[in-house]
Amino acid sequence: MKTFEQLYIDGNWVTSQGDQTLEVINPATAEVYATVPSANKQDVELAIKAAKGAFDEWSAQPTEVRVAVINAIADGMQARKDELVEAIVGSMGCPISIAEDLQVQGSIDALRSFAVLAPEMDKQETFDSHIVVNEAVGVCVLINPWNYPLSQLMGKLGPALAAGCTVVVKPAEQTPLQDLILADIINQTTLPKGVFNLLTGVGSQIGEALCSHPDVDMVSFTGSTQAGIKVAQAAAPTVKRVCQELGGKSPFIIAPGADLNAAVRYGVEDVMLNSGQTCSALTRMLVPAAQLAEVEKVAKDVAAEWQPNDPMLEATNMGPLSSHLQQSRVLAYIEKGIGEGATLLCGGTSVANELIKGAYIAPTIFSNVSNDMTIAQEEIFGPVLCILPYDDIEQAIAIANDTPFGLASAVYAADNAAAIKIGRKLRAGQCYLQGAYFNSDAPFGGYKQSGNGREWGLDGLKEYTETKALLIDTEAK
Ligand code: NAD
Repeated sequence: MKTFEQLYIDGNWVTSQGDQTLEVINPATAEVYATVPSANKQDVELAIKAAKGAFDEWSAQPTEVRVAVINAIADGMQARKDELVEAIVGSMGCPISIAEDLQVQGSIDALRSFAVLAPEMDKQETFDSHIVVNEAVGVCVLINPWNYPLSQLMGKLGPALAAGCTVVVKPAEQTPLQDLILADIINQTTLPKGVFNLLTGVGSQIGEALCSHPDVDMVSFTGSTQAGIKVAQAAAPTVKRVCQELGGKSPFIIAPGADLNAAVRYGVEDVMLNSGQTCSALTRMLVPAAQLAEVEKVAKDVAAEWQPNDPMLEATNMGPLSSHLQQSRVLAYIEKGIGEGATLLCGGTSVANELIKGAYIAPTIFSNVSNDMTIAQEEIFGPVLCILPYDDIEQAIAIANDTPFGLASAVYAADNAAAIKIGRKLRAGQCYLQGAYFNSDAPFGGYKQSGNGREWGLDGLKEYTETKALLIDTEAK
């Protein structure tokens, strides 16, 4: 078991002002994997004070300095990649091969993309009467969930540092370890003291103190819609900017004429990846009713390729869910789906006996789902796919948009032009066409109750900026 005893505040490892600790449980074994400090409100005060104190100097640094530090952090992550992978596998059960590639290498590469984008901060637009410049928004609180813990941190920390902001970071209770390693990496760089501060702790205990603090200029929150609402409420009295990246229930329209085998494979794999714990997972597959039987057969065959197993084995493609609590939530949804009359094609509750201690769930597919069922409306956040038949494409688009969420969507059609035409009608922040995948250069974020912010790419950088107009009297010198 690993024991982490300190928080990282103002460029130093410090003991928490309180005496509480948090246990990090390995969801594959149900054993305690690590313990970390649980920060209290006094720690929050100290971290925000440090971030505020560091802001003027850091935001005034030339872009080259910020770029060099971002790249130095990425170099440090690369050098300690194995440790980062181990932390993620041990705390949230992601299979090692996926953790190496998607969770860690992808995060390092994505951080570097913000070093490339940082010079955008120096650009200004000149008009007849005024000049428009972008400046760092200020002190930012960055709150993250547990499903892609390092990637989500890079999607916030990268643009915050590139823009010249200072930060207080709070990882999810379940997955604080990669953030602690990152703090150690940052400690070896020339990042000025106070720019990066890390509090491990419980959102319901310190979240309000972080989000309501008058010295915080922006909160960037990724997590559930319920917690996102509380964050916005806490932030409202001080009128700070809140960037919300929330839940989803994303539709995937397979249009008539699409390559059915390729489309169904793509859709099933998308949902099973990371044990279904991906906010943008395409969990509602809309298929032509006339092709339902064919779709069901392909979907079952592809699901059979995803077998839960020990995440430490190289060959494993599906680990446990991130916690036993998450497992019980997902099992309750499966029961609900059966009760609502959907057809259980495969999965459900079964896992092999030797895995019984872990938070595993077999790949689960429901067919004949109607869009008013709970399993079609609520985010399950597990390896559960719903197949919904439709009669014509306009009905498919209406069903796709009939959700309180709007994070992602996808279309597979006969060709790109047909897919784009349908994609333009879907009310979601991203639309994956013809089997496309997440790309950290493209803006990502939600419509409706999936959030109001954009992460990644130039839009992701702009979230961390204020726009200033310098108005000039052209008659004066
Ligand atoms: P969660 O909302 O329970 O927790 C997320 C974070 O919020 C944690 O760090 C938690 O400690 C903190 N938190 C909880 N209550 C808080 C409060 N009152 N104030 C401040 N912080 C608080 O979510 P989760 O279970 O960790 O993550 C799963 C959810 O995240 C899913 O709904 C998923 O769709 C969503 N998600 C969204 C995106 C996106 O980019 N839109 C990405 C990944 C995950």
